[in-house]
Amino acid sequence: MNDTLFGKIIRREIPATIVYEDDEILGFKDIAPQAPVHVLFVPKHELIPTLDDATPEQAALIGKLALAAAEYARREGLAQDGYRVVMNCREHAGQTVFHLHLHLLAGAQLGRFGS
Ligand code: 5GP
Repeated sequence: MNDTLFGKIIRREIPATIVYEDDEILGFKDIAPQAPVHVLFVPKHELIPTLDDATPEQAALIGKLALAAAEYARREGLAQDGYRVVMNCREHAGQTVFHLHLHLLAGAQLGRFGS
């Protein structure tokens, strides 16, 4: 269970700057930030490789990832100016860590995306 790079961060086997934690979700700073604020939110107890692997039973957990990001953004004063949340799924999206995670990007005017 959780035997991925992010599993090692969840188990505190490798260091990360943890900025959010609740019973189900861990939030930590991305090692290669793509915006002034770039935090990754991951489920702590379930290893879901990609969004495509998620089941209906995991719908609430996936919703909680988004709500954790929103709570963090509010707490850090980022909500009024706004932010972006992203989940990459497999090759065409550039997914590199196969442990479902939500990116929160904030702190500046973000460019358009999709190209
Ligand atoms: P993906 O491309 O899979 O959607 O996102 C994976 C993210 O994990 C990337 O933004 C990458 O910078 C980040 N990352 C990769 N290795 C590490 C690490 O060891 N520590 C942290 N904090 N982030 C990492």
